[in-house]
Amino acid sequence: MASIAVNSPSSGSNYFMKDGVASFNTNRLCSFSFESSLFGSKISTKQLTLSVNGTGTTRPKPTIYSGSGPVKASSHSFDVVIVGAGIIGLTIARQFLIGSDLSVAVVDKAVPCSGATGAGQGYIWMVNKNPGSETWELTKRSHQLWKMLAETIRDQGMDPFQVLGWKKTGSLLVGRTPGDSVVLRNRVRQLSEAGLRAEYLFSNELLSKEPAVFVGSDGGAAFAPDDCQLDAWRTVSYIEKVNRNFALEGRYAEFYHEPVTGLVRSTNTGEVEAVQTSNNTLYGKAIVVAAGCWSRSLMHDLVRGSNVKLDVLVKPRKGHLLVIENFNSLQLNHGLMEVGYVDHQNAILTSEQDDHSQTLAVSMTATMDTMGNLILGSSRQFVGFSTEVDDAIILHILKRAGDFFPKLKELSLTDFSKNGKVRVGLRPYMPDGKPVIGRVPGLSNLFLATGHEGQGLTTALGTAEMVVDMVLGNPTHVDNSPFAAQGRCC
Ligand SMILES: Cc1cc2nc3c(=O)[nH]c(=O)nc-3n(C[C@H](O)[C@H](O)[C@H](O)COP(=O)(O)OP(=O)(O)OC[C@H]3O[C@@H](n4cnc5c(N)ncnc54)[C@H](O)[C@@H]3O)c2cc1C
Repeated sequence: MASIAVNSPSSGSNYFMKDGVASFNTNRLCSFSFESSLFGSKISTKQLTLSVNGTGTTRPKPTIYSGSGPVKASSHSFDVVIVGAGIIGLTIARQFLIGSDLSVAVVDKAVPCSGATGAGQGYIWMVNKNPGSETWELTKRSHQLWKMLAETIRDQGMDPFQVLGWKKTGSLLVGRTPGDSVVLRNRVRQLSEAGLRAEYLFSNELLSKEPAVFVGSDGGAAFAPDDCQLDAWRTVSYIEKVNRNFALEGRYAEFYHEPVTGLVRSTNTGEVEAVQTSNNTLYGKAIVVAAGCWSRSLMHDLVRGSNVKLDVLVKPRKGHLLVIENFNSLQLNHGLMEVGYVDHQNAILTSEQDDHSQTLAVSMTATMDTMGNLILGSSRQFVGFSTEVDDAIILHILKRAGDFFPKLKELSLTDFSKNGKVRVGLRPYMPDGKPVIGRVPGLSNLFLATGHEGQGLTTALGTAEMVVDMVLGNPTHVDNSPFAAQGRCC
């Protein structure tokens, strides 16, 4: 019988960190079953003993180390170590925990919601996606998984609105010009052909559904009644709660406020054995890097000195979102977005545009959150890793929203500063518009899940399912080949 040891740094207990506060699990010995194909063919369900006691390491000293920080003595072992506690990392952790018997650690340089996830508006939408595109099936599957999760929560006697901020508002993709109307009609046709419920609304029909919006007599909307929205903060909090339930049986641990600084690799196989954080060495049979827009520089550090040539082209795409409290003169029944958003989101950088290209795009997005606040978006910019609030962008967003909602024209920047908050996040943008989900070529137990740009909330559950199936050696529900790192990052 194989054994995996999880050692704590000093107390001899399995420890569980929340916002820097440790709580201790005195459950010293437990056993669990394990099914995996991490190293070759599928291992059938097999009992492993998880021994959670003792101090010191159970592994030999690291043999090859690449990274920017010093190697630390405290070590812990898990089946899977996930780098990044945004929506992608946390949902991958949840999927391993509920869908296998593997033990999981999540490590983050800060806390969940400190990255793009905390800024997300919460659209879980199909209306703005293109049937037949390479991301369509993943998005559709993920949409379905979110709906199933909301149903499961309801079946358990809880309210998905309270738990996830879940609302089936339906979506309205709106346009104001005759050209927009043609685009919207085509979209409705394509969505209907792809099996989704969608209908085109003329401006008067739109007005009866959503009285606050004005698109003029030439405008219209694509309406998808099954689209939904969630609240990223509530959802993350729920997923963390689910994950933490597994801490009691020794299968889950969090290491927050611990930047990952390097990798430890075996001299024999060259495989990744562990990630090095600022405080700990975390051993894992599989390592998943889900570090959002920071994945590129992190991966550079992690593969430095190895033969692996990898450049994950993900870069930060800054977004501002306005949260307007107590603005009772505008109520929305649906989530709304202008049709131009689709082009802005899909805009692909040309090779002449360098890393600091401004390429500002602002398109109107509007939702009501669980507290009844009006959320207005959104901007897209390539300005590096800065998350500073920019007043010019706030004005831009207010003006664009005013073009669609006349009542907002009454709102000045001064009014907004009294009753408003700004959320800024860095979307993980991939130049080819697709996330990277898959193995790192040359390091078979190192996986990437990043580059979801403005779709990471929507596609999180589908991504999590895909990653777990890949790690376990199961067939993936959705074809994973369009998302492979091979050919795109190396
Ligand atoms: C304004 C805005 C609106 C959006 N609206 C929507 C929407 O309506 N619907 C939708 O589907 N998506 C939306 N998105 C996109 C969505 O928020 C992102 O795609 C998603 O949050 C990405 O999740 P992630 O986990 O990959 O990244 P992140 O949330 O950024 O998480 C990455 C994590 O990695 C950690 N990390 C980085 N480096 C290290 C390191 N060295 N060591 C340890 N940890 C590290 C970070 O601290 C961070 O917590 C929006 C984004 C923005 C900015």
